[in-house]
Amino acid sequence: MGERQPVMVLLSPCRHSAFFDPAPLRGDEVYCRKCEDWRMVMVTVAEWRIRCRNCHLSHRYGEDETNARRTAIRHVARFAGHTVVIFQGDRLDAEVKAAEPLPGTMPDRYHTVTLP
Ligand SMILES: [Zn+2]
Ligand SMILES: [Zn+2]
Repeated sequence: MGERQPVMVLLSPCRHSAFFDPAPLRGDEVYCRKCEDWRMVMVTVAEWRIRCRNCHLSHRYGEDETNARRTAIRHVARFAGHTVVIFQGDRLDAEVKAAEPLPGTMPDRYHTVTLP
């Protein structure tokens, strides 16, 4: 990869999330656009992302792991032969691809390969 990604952080005390680039450190003061006030960085979040190796599908889900996985599975179900990789932050979490469908049918089974 090597591409730079804005980093998602949770703010204190309002608990809003926001993206910053470059990434602030925990304890930094940053401006919360939702509160229109200064807040403290509580924690930086390793964001869930998916990307397809075979087309330009690429999405970011913040903390929403469930939705990231669901979308990956839906994508490989719709596009036979595509492989979707799931990242948490910069860590490769899993590869999702459809089982070989019978000719003329939609794939109905998936397998998920979790890498070490
Ligand atoms: Zn806020
Ligand atoms: Zn695809």
